[in-house]
Amino acid sequence: MSFIPNPLKADIIRRIGSQSFRYLHPFITAGPWFKEIVYSREVLLDVDLDEFMFNTRLAEGHKTARYIESLRRLTQVGPSVEALEMLGEVAYSDLYTMFAFAVMLLCCGSYEQGMIVTRNFMARVETLQDAMDIADVVESQVRNIGHGGCKVFSGYIHFLEYPICYFDHNTDCTVCQHCLVFSYANKFHEIC
Ligand SMILES: [Zn+2]
Repeated sequence: MSFIPNPLKADIIRRIGSQSFRYLHPFITAGPWFKEIVYSREVLLDVDLDEFMFNTRLAEGHKTARYIESLRRLTQVGPSVEALEMLGEVAYSDLYTMFAFAVMLLCCGSYEQGMIVTRNFMARVETLQDAMDIADVVESQVRNIGHGGCKVFSGYIHFLEYPICYFDHNTDCTVCQHCLVFSYANKFHEIC
């Protein structure tokens, strides 16, 4: 379609979308340029919104299901490449999944990768309190899923270096931005 001018492409996509949002699926997967057009105001104004919301919810549900399933496998059965990959697929959809991915990478012994995701996560939260709230939600999710308590991360978890705070805080907080994810990785190591 490279010979078709962009405004015309957008118009074609809008017309296809007005038939059914389902027909737009190939465009969503075709690449970021097409995806942007599909989610543009002009196209969305013309699609059947009920159908669109339904599809969006399905996609959301699917994402949540994969998140919970990967977390369940990791915390109950233990480290596995498949489960980590499944979590990685959805890891950048929000800050909760991102934190869970960082912590699970550390628990599974992927120190370098875990620290990269950690830095990404810490760069996106506004305050330490926000980060702690997110961490607490993930902890309660792990507790709700029902960890086995079989020490599944024993022998895997390792830290190549101490956080620069050395867990030494002169405040009420038991963690800081340098050791938050370490601390939760240790916690999950203890309870899972
Ligand atoms: Zn610290």
